[in-house]
Amino acid sequence: MWNFNFTIKQLLRNYTGSYAKRMEQTMQLDIISVNQKLRNFSAVERIQWAVDNFGMDAILLSSMQKTASVLMHYFYSLGLENYILFIDTGYHFAETLQLRDEFITRYKLNMVTLYPDLTIEQQEKLYGKKLYQYIDGQKECCRLRKEAPYLSYMKNNGLMLSMVGLRQTEGGKRSKLEPLLRDPRIEGYALHPLFDWSDEQIESYLLENDIPIHPLHNKNYPSIGCECCTTPVRPGENPRAGRWRHLNESSDNVPKYCNINFSDGSGI
Ligand code: SF4
Repeated sequence: MWNFNFTIKQLLRNYTGSYAKRMEQTMQLDIISVNQKLRNFSAVERIQWAVDNFGMDAILLSSMQKTASVLMHYFYSLGLENYILFIDTGYHFAETLQLRDEFITRYKLNMVTLYPDLTIEQQEKLYGKKLYQYIDGQKECCRLRKEAPYLSYMKNNGLMLSMVGLRQTEGGKRSKLEPLLRDPRIEGYALHPLFDWSDEQIESYLLENDIPIHPLHNKNYPSIGCECCTTPVRPGENPRAGRWRHLNESSDNVPKYCNINFSDGSGI
């Protein structure tokens, strides 16, 4: 999405020494010592650290799931004007888009909706079949509809830090998650302010602050992505078992990721 005001500001800033200087400083972060510090911070302090160090170049990437609800509420309660990016893949549940609109209306957030270059119709015409229906196609579909619009917006606007709601308790590759990760794709970082939060902490924060959540969470959807790639989970299943379930029988059954979140060369 073209954001005229922000892009002009960014162009002007690119011609000043302060932007170059801050970029140089932030790229020189000693990630080990920064993570030692961030581990002892609260979620609010982690968010504040991001804004203090990256200014408006720090954004929140919202999936409209529970952790995103918590983080969007933090942006509201801290009075942050930093951008909140939401990627409309074209395949979302209607409830996902409704929740985005509810957050905009209720909390007056600076939400920016990004779109893929291709419409669903153009993509399906180009590839002959629905990409999400098979293993390699899923990777390409997620790249086209999530990763590409995200990276393109970050790079075109010189944004350097993305806050996301990943947590260690989600297990799999996320069980060893650090608060801050380098993301070479944007020559910047991903910050996980809730990386050490338990499910109980998430639930109590949402309840205490009367924050809206995605309605499908209450219908056995602990993890929610695009409608065609998300199913409810059965009792005892891994919370991410409902994601790309249709691909699990024809593959290694290893948890899949969309690659928008990045670690060690692949999705996390
Ligand atoms: S979750 Fe499914 S439909 Fe959505 S972008 Fe990925 S493969 Fe495509």
